[in-house]
Amino acid sequence: MDETAINNNGGAGLRLDFRFDNTYRRLPERFHASVLPQPVSAPRLIAFNHALADSLRLDGPGVLADGAALFSGNRLPYGAEPIAAAYAGHQFGRFVPQLGDGRAILLGEVIDRHDRRQDIQLKGSGRTPFSRRGDGRAAVGPVLREYLVSEAMQALGVPTTRALAAVATGEPVYRETVLPGAVLTRVAASHIRVGTFQFFAARGDVEAVRCLADYAIARHDPALAAQPQPYLAFLTAVAQRQARLIAGWMHVGFIHGVMNTDNMAISGETIDYGPCAFMDMYDPATVFSSIDHGGRYAFANQPAIAVWNLCRLAECLLPLLDPDREVGSNQATAVLEAFPYQFEAFWLEGMRQKLGLATAEADDSTFIRELLDVMHRGGADYTLTFRRLSDAAEDDCAADRVRALFSLPHDFDQWVDRWRQRTAREPRHPGERAAAMRAVNPAFIPRNHRVEAALSAAIDGDLQPFETLRTLLQRPFEDNSALAHYAEPPAATDRVYQTFCGT
Ligand code: AMP
Ligand code: MG
Repeated sequence: MDETAINNNGGAGLRLDFRFDNTYRRLPERFHASVLPQPVSAPRLIAFNHALADSLRLDGPGVLADGAALFSGNRLPYGAEPIAAAYAGHQFGRFVPQLGDGRAILLGEVIDRHDRRQDIQLKGSGRTPFSRRGDGRAAVGPVLREYLVSEAMQALGVPTTRALAAVATGEPVYRETVLPGAVLTRVAASHIRVGTFQFFAARGDVEAVRCLADYAIARHDPALAAQPQPYLAFLTAVAQRQARLIAGWMHVGFIHGVMNTDNMAISGETIDYGPCAFMDMYDPATVFSSIDHGGRYAFANQPAIAVWNLCRLAECLLPLLDPDREVGSNQATAVLEAFPYQFEAFWLEGMRQKLGLATAEADDSTFIRELLDVMHRGGADYTLTFRRLSDAAEDDCAADRVRALFSLPHDFDQWVDRWRQRTAREPRHPGERAAAMRAVNPAFIPRNHRVEAALSAAIDGDLQPFETLRTLLQRPFEDNSALAHYAEPPAATDRVYQTFCGT
């Protein structure tokens, strides 16, 4: 790309070098479309992630001085080769053969300080050949929601795409109401989705499926290329990452909300923060998304939906598995059937940590599920139950504060007696146990009522609540007495029952 392409809107500019090393763009033409971001009239940088920029080696003064222009798409950094990727997907169980990046543009890939390849993508940067009837834009609210929640997930230790920058465009977007527009810069290990495989499989383009699988293996699982059955090993690796990911969601009470196959990344990162939310009161049937009428993506359904999505991936890979389709199908089935056991193992490991159990006993799973059942019947707050139980691990009096979360405290009393007996059989000292529990049970999560309040303020031009929340959520496991009220569940009047995609 020549120098003239650096300034998308014709302004004079620095030769900013992100050290792009673009590979997806080198895949065959049918994988993507070249497209430039559409310039916006009055870009203003409203959030910038210095720590992430530094890990991407992008934190030079030029980048920040030029942040509004760069992260709105008004100015392209040197070496950017913007493309929109093709993909398909099952949306709420219904197959859509063509979706694609309708409002996102991949600028290119960089190698971070840990030698990991990362996509730099603008989301909300204008129309692309995949926009269908959409305007290619995003609103400030959903952009800052993705920023807050994805960065909170990172701090909570859950694999996720990251947020590098948010820019207000100064232009309106038209949804149910007129809203201020924004562009998010998203960073991801890749943007290959289950739906990317489906795009080619649905067209009978086995060569493209093979090419994509080879690319994905080289990028995410290079060791598998030398295996006798690399594509089966790839399916196994993707399933393993999903089992770990979904277990991570369940440990922190996260509900993705739109687990369509186009929103499942084969990297194993949480991707596409739309109507996602964290659960307050524990209820496995919790659904927030306004468009999830049947509860398909309810909290407790998430592991089963992951398997459903992986089945769709397996179908795409079938032609690559074995010349005898039935043999390949049996091999893939064995991988998928192992998923619930893998998930259970990850889940149990994390739940033991949440309860301060360093050893394993045969009936741990039942014992843990009994607590969840008591929480459900007693309407207890998911996050606070575990956080306060951490304190109770070293201080008997603190148990009263856990008890206070339950509307049926007697049931909790019976359970907590058994927990005391169970932990008494553990080798760890109570103080050690409490510290270990506090390191996995967050005090602070992006509670919906706080997120919504921060976004409303931001839409009205006040970014302070967003900043407070963003800073707090960088350290979710540390008590913060000045902001202790942010740990509390919403009062009945503040409760948020529905979230919206805002697309
Ligand atoms: P999502 O619900 O965000 O996962 O998006 C599903 C599909 O709709 C993807 O192909 C998006 O690119 C597309 N899409 C969502 N919002 C817009 C928009 N405002 N303009 C164009 N395409 C969009
Ligand atoms: Mg999506």
